[in-house]
Amino acid sequence: MNQSQTIQQEDKLSVLRKYEKYVTADGKTTLFIIKSCRGEEVNCPNLLNKPRPLAQRMHDRLNEISFNQRLYDKIPAKILPHMTFKLAVAGCPNSCSMPQIKDFGVITQESVVVDPASECSMCMKCLKVCREGAIVIKEDRTVIIDQEECVNCGLCARVCPTGSIKIDRTGYAIVLGGKVGRHPRFAAQLMELATEEQVLKALEICAERILGEKGRNLYGFLAKEPFHEELREALKKL
Ligand code: SF4
Ligand code: SF4
Ligand code: SF4
Repeated sequence: MNQSQTIQQEDKLSVLRKYEKYVTADGKTTLFIIKSCRGEEVNCPNLLNKPRPLAQRMHDRLNEISFNQRLYDKIPAKILPHMTFKLAVAGCPNSCSMPQIKDFGVITQESVVVDPASECSMCMKCLKVCREGAIVIKEDRTVIIDQEECVNCGLCARVCPTGSIKIDRTGYAIVLGGKVGRHPRFAAQLMELATEEQVLKALEICAERILGEKGRNLYGFLAKEPFHEELREALKKL
């Protein structure tokens, strides 16, 4: 590489390098940022699953496909913050790492079911923790969960002393295409209760599409339903 090429390349990253978050511990520049919630560090009572191990696997998957280098090569001009890939992982549906305004967001979930074999004691603990008002306890001790209102936070099953409400599945909601700025948009939910392998596969497919995108809007397709359909079909096979 000659001197003029070196200067040109450094210039391409000159804006990003003014922001600490784009500079890694070893002094390199990253073109993707994965934000994890702090549930683990603060011993958050809502934490369903530690977000950092999955965030690390997502980081490793992007490195395996040389995302940084390929995005760098693809963008011909100075690289600006809005051109970088933004991701987040949250340890529960409270979503403190704000996956809803990221290109690729992951939210840990726990779905719950009613176990008719365990008699409800009518302690009402589940009603107190459910902020969605998604649980109804009838006089005959029947427990009903309104799945339309339930956000899969798993809290009711954790406080239920009789096992009348149980954890059914743990997984991840994948949300795509959120952004702030001039035309802000909340991310759309691609799927609920995905496995870790499905999250990583979805990430790889999205990353490859970003790297293959023509034109200036690298991330716009993430919000489009035809792409979601295509992605869901690919993930069903896992
Ligand atoms: S997203 Fe959930 S687990 Fe993470 S810090 Fe917020 S409340 Fe706690
Ligand atoms: S999982 Fe959470 S939102 Fe769903 S019913 Fe239980 S407490 Fe309510
Ligand atoms: S916490 Fe369990 S036992 Fe108590 S009211 Fe709710 S379902 Fe019944």
